[in-house]
Amino acid sequence: MRKITIAIDGFSSTGKSTLAKQIANQLGYAYVDTGAMYRAVTLFAMQNGLVDQFDFNKSELVKRLPEINLQFEFNPELGFAEMYLNGTNVEKQIRSLEVSGFVSQVAEVSEVRAMLVKQQKQMGMAKGVVMDGRDIGTVVFPDAEVKLFMSARADVRAQRRFDELTEKGQLVSYDRVLENVLQRDHIDTTREDSPLVKAADAIEVDNSELTREQQFDQVMEIIKNKL
Ligand code: C5P
Repeated sequence: MRKITIAIDGFSSTGKSTLAKQIANQLGYAYVDTGAMYRAVTLFAMQNGLVDQFDFNKSELVKRLPEINLQFEFNPELGFAEMYLNGTNVEKQIRSLEVSGFVSQVAEVSEVRAMLVKQQKQMGMAKGVVMDGRDIGTVVFPDAEVKLFMSARADVRAQRRFDELTEKGQLVSYDRVLENVLQRDHIDTTREDSPLVKAADAIEVDNSELTREQQFDQVMEIIKNKL
């Protein structure tokens, strides 16, 4: 069967990665979580004192981008690839609310985007890939055979993210999570470089009222038609 490219974009915490993993497993495709790449660059900036709640030293981060090495390594126990920053597994750290609080500012920087988009294009060159993010169907793979645009009500998304963080043992309040989700949506949709927009040929999936299984079934129908 021919291999295709599946691009999944959408708002924060709309379940893009859950869906992308399900599709990748079903089809035997590679899954690339581009948000993890922006999160790892953000963690690098935090670790090197380039961003905190008072200041963001963009020019220094841009200067130091060549020091950043990002690798995905497949973890067979988890069934997906984990993010390594300069040789260290940072999968857990990059999912914290602290990183979520700075990531959209870092993702606004054009030099950061250029570096990551280049790597993403290379990772998807051989097709047979499911990639999720904010600009996959518009910038990274404008020719993707399947483009999905995910949305859900903000309260539903915040609740899901809150449950996820609490399950992982992180002490957070629902209100802070909701605030972060809304703030990221705002920055992601209004930034100048590659803002989050639905590609003209993307199919919109609102999963506010859908279970994971219902959503997966609907989306697999769309994909099967393309295959
Ligand atoms: O997907 P996730 O929520 O982990 O992404 C974290 C942040 O990274 C997003 O809020 C967005 O600011 C940025 N991002 C991006 N472009 C992508 C993927 C993520 O700007 N392709």
